[in-house]
Amino acid sequence: MTVLVTGGTGMIGHALQKVLPNGVFLSSTDVDLRNYEQTYKVFKTHNPEKVIHLAARVGGVKANTNFIAEFYKDNIDMNTNVIDISHKLGVSKVLSFLSTCIFPDNIEYPLTEATVHNGEPHSSNFGYAYAKRMLDVQSRAYRQQYGCNFITVIPNNLFGENDNFHLEHSHVIPAMIRKIYEAKINNSEVTLWGDGSPLREFTYSEDLAKIILFTLENYNGEHPLSVGNPGERSIKSVAEDVVDIFDFRGRINWQTDKPAGQHRKPSSNKKFLELGWDKKYTPFREALEKTCQWFLESYPNVRGIG
Ligand code: NAP
Repeated sequence: MTVLVTGGTGMIGHALQKVLPNGVFLSSTDVDLRNYEQTYKVFKTHNPEKVIHLAARVGGVKANTNFIAEFYKDNIDMNTNVIDISHKLGVSKVLSFLSTCIFPDNIEYPLTEATVHNGEPHSSNFGYAYAKRMLDVQSRAYRQQYGCNFITVIPNNLFGENDNFHLEHSHVIPAMIRKIYEAKINNSEVTLWGDGSPLREFTYSEDLAKIILFTLENYNGEHPLSVGNPGERSIKSVAEDVVDIFDFRGRINWQTDKPAGQHRKPSSNKKFLELGWDKKYTPFREALEKTCQWFLESYPNVRGIG
């Protein structure tokens, strides 16, 4: 049985390679998923039984805001092609990725699967958010009309080895790791966006890889499944952890005039745990230490640098 993984060279793709050794892992050089003909050809060649659709145009607050139209168009095109071609080629199951970033801004907490579409997403990332919401809509529409077993999962903020450390395009943890590490080796100060007060939940990439395999086996529901590790921590406290791990003694400057994004978005993984997932999430500090250690050993040969 062939399991085809789009976005197989990204952070989650790398983590998945360790637990799915026989999978076919595609990068953007194998196929530009925004192109229907290319995508059809590559899918037809591999003739997958199942597809794990990880590929996306992703980024932090800055990239999401500056390239909001591109985030919308690229993600809509990729998702539409993957879902439609999987249907046309008779793929038995597709697991696609949504995100807690796509929830409405003004909503009751914790975020649950039932409230994804109940209001406008945060203004900083509405392009990405609506494109991802349409992935849920398209998966459900193909289930209803064609009987496709297409499922979606909602992770919260992810981090781990092989993340993107580009200063413009990275998420909060890889950006902090890079900035704090480089300030340490250059004996300089660190500048971080916002005031550090927003709260976020984080899931380690290696945990998510195991969760993907579990979900592929055990979930066949129409609605999204929220799978992230709950438990909020402030951006400031994450910065303090990275400072501690690298033993950085310099100054951190918070750029309070820069947008910080949504203040909080705690999520519930109740429905997921009810499926019987018995593995524990890796404790945050342990996962962060592993990621920082990997960064230190790999620097500067990491994605987004050099
Ligand atoms: P990532 O590290 O940025 O990797 C993105 C992957 O998508 C790469 O393999 C990239 O290929 C591929 N890709 C991008 N554009 C493509 C295109 N036009 N055609 C074909 N492939 C393309 O992403 P990630 O962090 O692993 O995220 C995996 C999934 O989780 C995404 O769907 C994302 O939306 C979702 N998610 C992520 C987070 C997070 O905090 N990272 C949080 C919630 C949800 P190349 O390597 O060749 O560039």
